[in-house]
Amino acid sequence: MSNENQTPAKKLTLKENYALMTRDLGWETSYQPMDEVFRYLKFEGIKIHDWEKWEDPFRLTMDAYWKYQGEKERKLYAIMDAFQQNNGQFNVTDVRYIQALKVFIQGFSLIEYTSHRGFNIMSRELAGVGPRIAAEMQALDELRHTQTQIHTLSQYNRYFAGMEEFPYMFDRTWYLSIPKSFFEDAVTGGPFEFIVAISFALEYLLTNLVFMPWMSGAAYNGDMATVTFGFSAQSDEARHMTLGLEIVKFLLEQDPANVPLVQKWIDKWFWRGYRVLALVSAMMDYMLPKRVMPWCEAFEIYFEQNGGALFADLARYGIRMPKHYEVAIKEKGRISHELWSIFYQYRDAAGFHPWLPSEEEMDWFSEKYPDTFDKLYRPRYEYWRQLEKEGRPFINSNLPQLCQICQWPMLFSEPDDPTQTCYRETEYKEEKFHFCSDGCKDIFCDEPEKYVNAWLPVHQIYQGNCLLEGVDPTAPGFNPLAEALKYMGIKPGIDGGSLSASADAHNWEAWTGRPHNSHEGMVTEPAAKAA
Ligand code: FE
Ligand code: ZN
Repeated sequence: MSNENQTPAKKLTLKENYALMTRDLGWETSYQPMDEVFRYLKFEGIKIHDWEKWEDPFRLTMDAYWKYQGEKERKLYAIMDAFQQNNGQFNVTDVRYIQALKVFIQGFSLIEYTSHRGFNIMSRELAGVGPRIAAEMQALDELRHTQTQIHTLSQYNRYFAGMEEFPYMFDRTWYLSIPKSFFEDAVTGGPFEFIVAISFALEYLLTNLVFMPWMSGAAYNGDMATVTFGFSAQSDEARHMTLGLEIVKFLLEQDPANVPLVQKWIDKWFWRGYRVLALVSAMMDYMLPKRVMPWCEAFEIYFEQNGGALFADLARYGIRMPKHYEVAIKEKGRISHELWSIFYQYRDAAGFHPWLPSEEEMDWFSEKYPDTFDKLYRPRYEYWRQLEKEGRPFINSNLPQLCQICQWPMLFSEPDDPTQTCYRETEYKEEKFHFCSDGCKDIFCDEPEKYVNAWLPVHQIYQGNCLLEGVDPTAPGFNPLAEALKYMGIKPGIDGGSLSASADAHNWEAWTGRPHNSHEGMVTEPAAKAA
C-alpha cells in the first residue's frame, strides 16, 4: 500500500493524544438505559452531575503506561538477578529482619491482589472515562505489585521458613484475617465507598506510613531486593495518591449532598486503615535490627503533620479530621509495644519467630518512648526474660477475644489509661458483639448486618471449623490447638516459636558465620530523618 499521496499525520499534543485515546472510549448507550449498565452508581446516595469534570492530572495513555512499566520491570529484574547471584539474602543485618519479610509476604502481598480486583471493579462500574482509565491502570499496577513482591521474596523463601505457604495462610491464619478482612470489607462496599476507602484513606492519607519507613528500613538493613521493588512500586503510588485526592475533591465539588457521605467513609476508613497499620508499627519498632525511626515519630510526621495539613486544606469543602484521630495520637506511644507483647505470648501460633528485645533495644525504646516504655513495658519484658532464664518461658495458651470489626485480639488499651484493656460491646438482635475501640464499635453500629457474620478465627476454632479434612475431634489425644495450627498452615516449631530456638537462627549462624540477634550498628542517628 502506498502512502505517497497522503499528507503526513499531524503530531498531536499530549493533551489531544490523551483525549483521543481515552475520552472517546465512553459513550451513551442506545438500547439499554445507562442506569442498567452502571448498576451501582446510585445506591450509595452519591450524586454526580458531570463526569467530564473529573480531570486526570497524569494524562497517561495506555501505550505510554506499558512503556514506562516495561522499563521499570527490566530494571527491577536485573537487580533481582544480581541480588540472587550474590546471595543477597545473607547480606541483610540479621535474621530478625527476615522475620519482617515474612509478615510482609503473608499479610501484604495478597491484599495487593485484592486491590487489583477492587480496581478492576472500579474500571467497570464508574461511569466517567477519566476515573475508569485511572482505575484500570491501578488494577494493573496492583497485580504487578503482587507479582514483584512474590518474585523478590522467593529468594528468601529458598533459605528461610514461614513463607512457602503464604497464599494458603492468607485465607486461614488468625492474624492475617486482619488485613484480609480490611480489604474485603472495602471491595464489598459500593464503588464510591471503595474509592474513598482505598484511594483516599489508605493510599493518600496512610500509605506513606508504610512506604517511607518500610522502604528506608529495607535500605538500612541491606535488603536491596526489597528496596528495589519498593521504589518500583512507589512511582505507581504517586499516581494512586493523586487519584485518591482527585476523586475526593471531585465528589465534594459535584454536590453538597456528597459531603456527609464522604466524611462518613473517611471516618470509617481512617480507623480501619489505622488499625491494619498497627502491624507496621510492630515491624518498624521491633523487627528492623537497624531502626529508621520509631513508630511514634513516623506517625507524627506522616499523619499529624502531613495529614493535618491535608485536612486544613479540605476544610473549605466542609470536611474535618477523621473521627477518633485523637485516639490514634494517644496510642502512638503504645501500640507497637502492645502488639509485640501479643506476638510474643502467641509465638507458637505465629508464622514467624518473635523474640524479647535485648538490653540495647530496650534502651533505645526508653529514649524514643520516654513517657511509656520504662513505666509500662520494660518491667513486663524483664519479667518475661527472667522466666526464660528460669526455663519456664511465658506462653499464653488461651485464645483471645477478637474485635468484630478489625479482628485484632483485644490488645489495645483505654485511650486515657494505658494500664486498662479497652473493651467495648453492643447488642444486636439479642446477640452480644465485642470491639477493641469506639472506632470499631461505631463502624459496626452503622452497618451491623455487614459484620454480624464476620469470619473471626477464634470463633471459628471454637466452633470446630478449623480442622483439616478427616481430623476427628473425638479421637483420643486430640489436640485442638495443634490441629488449628495445621489448618492455618503453620508448622509448629518450624514456622513459629521463639527465634533463638528456630532453624532460621541456627542456619543463619551456620551460613553467615554471624551470631543472630547481634546489635552492632543498631541505634540510628539523625541521618535517618533525611530518608
Ligand atoms: Fe500496590
Ligand atoms: Zn477493632
